[in-house]
Amino acid sequence: MSWESTQLYYQLINRMVADALGGHHSADLLLASIDFAPVAEWQHAGEWDRIADHLNARALELAAAGAEALVICTNTIHLVADRIGAGTGLPVIHVVDCVGTSIIDAGYRRVGLLGTRFTMESPTLYPERLADMGVSVVTPDEPGRADVHQVIYEELCHGRIRTESRIRYLETVSALADRGAEAVILGCTEIGLLLDESVEAPIPFLDSTRIHARAAVDFALGEQS
Ligand code: GLU
Repeated sequence: MSWESTQLYYQLINRMVADALGGHHSADLLLASIDFAPVAEWQHAGEWDRIADHLNARALELAAAGAEALVICTNTIHLVADRIGAGTGLPVIHVVDCVGTSIIDAGYRRVGLLGTRFTMESPTLYPERLADMGVSVVTPDEPGRADVHQVIYEELCHGRIRTESRIRYLETVSALADRGAEAVILGCTEIGLLLDESVEAPIPFLDSTRIHARAAVDFALGEQS
């Protein structure tokens, strides 16, 4: 959605395909790169119907161009995932299902969640979907959510990586660990720009972008239906 996260997906997917197939192989994919400004404005104005219609129009274009599945490269927009691709007959590779599978594979039962305010405050997107898998979700307190949200839109969506923000994010992660989280979902596709495996943290990160990109590649290479 913000092009900062789109380029992460594009790079990860191509690298994973190259690793799997070797040689000069790269991903055969169709990309709808969207102007994020109106979408961000509609998100903050609560105009989710407008967002769903706008993105569904792009999904229809991708379907007409031959796409076989849809990957929505953002967590937040999964709030309207059921309306994107409606009418195309294409499967949507849902980020929360992919993250949930990783959580189960790792054996975690209680996880923290960082993301936009829309993602962290939705009772359905992560909590209900993961509850169906026997996993509970803990989110930051109100000041923590406000800070995480602001850093995403004011910094990460513009490719700004600030040490001060990384330190505050790590404090928030520690608070989630203190409340019993065994790992923390980086449930916003730009957070991997700030927190990755090189950063020392009290609990492991589950980077939704990497997990989602992996699932897209597995689908494309026929390792998952
Ligand atoms: N990419 C972010 C996410 O994963 C937020 C910005 C957006 O809506 O794309 O939620």
